[in-house]
Amino acid sequence: LRATQDGPVVLYEPESNARALHEMRVEALLCKAIADDELELHYQPQVDLSNGHVAGAEALLRWTSPALGVVSPGEFIPVAERAGLIAALGDWVLRRACQQIAQWRAEGVPPVRIGVNFSPLQLQRRDLAQHIQAILLETGAVPALLGVEVTEGSVMADVGHAAAVLREIKALGVEIALDDFGTGYSSLSRLRSLPIDVVKIDRLFVHDVTAASEDVSVTRALITMAQGLQLKVLAEGVESEGQLSLLAANRCDLIQGFVFSAALPADAFATLLREGRRLPDRFVTRVRRTR
Ligand code: C2E
Ligand code: MG
Ligand code: MG
Ligand code: MG
Repeated sequence: LRATQDGPVVLYEPESNARALHEMRVEALLCKAIADDELELHYQPQVDLSNGHVAGAEALLRWTSPALGVVSPGEFIPVAERAGLIAALGDWVLRRACQQIAQWRAEGVPPVRIGVNFSPLQLQRRDLAQHIQAILLETGAVPALLGVEVTEGSVMADVGHAAAVLREIKALGVEIALDDFGTGYSSLSRLRSLPIDVVKIDRLFVHDVTAASEDVSVTRALITMAQGLQLKVLAEGVESEGQLSLLAANRCDLIQGFVFSAALPADAFATLLREGRRLPDRFVTRVRRTR
């Protein structure tokens, strides 16, 4: 048994027959999911703690399979990677997010940046920046409204390659976020060579942040370290007002999590933007800011 970050507990037994069969089934169904229109992007709002406004959203892939029901990306993304389907899937996500950016702009929805997750294998692609540029041109999305999220682990697998590719992506005007920060033991000096704009503190460190636990000091240290490198810090998986207050007190820049909103279907997110929903003033830090 292994506790996973994105689910409760899964049976992890590579040689298990049932497991392998299930994976083959997921793989076969996933192949058809793109063509059969079973995929959808949901958007989780990201809030700026300095003014309480929604500053962006993370695009999160949702798959509703007629045969399997709702399958979580934590389950099918790894399958897609092993099955060689991640390029097609990743393309679909990027294109869909860019189409949505362009569509919202045409509809006069207040513009915010949309972050797209890239898996480790996608990041290995040499011509990733050119590919992103082609999709931006094809869809007419403004580069400044697109963000790219790469995990600490995938970057650290080959820092030299990642630094080069991310530099090209950033040169397009796209923002770079380092996802799941804190889980991969990155050293400060290695981070410094990467063209990162935002560091996303993994929700493992946010979870117990209000308890009298070490996580408070870990989170505070992560924020201090990132801001020392002139990076913005976003805490993910913020669920309670207690966590929110503590993060604000420690000068965290942005948050996302159930305390504000879960990921929403596109229309519901657009409505939230139009209505200008924001955090209550008691969580807003601007008045206390010195910088
Ligand atoms: P992630 O990038 O770290 O995404 C955050 C995950 O935390 C999402 O789960 C989100 O729904 C969940 N979450 C958000 N707020 C809270 C909260 O307050 N509490 C808790 N407990 N959880 C919260 P989701 O959507 O199941 O995605 C899981 C992972 O799957 C993502 O982790 C990301 O690594 C991957 N993923 C999702 N969409 C895509 C995609 O389009 N492409 C790729 N390559 N990976 C994706
Ligand atoms: Mg992410
Ligand atoms: Mg994350
Ligand atoms: Mg995560």
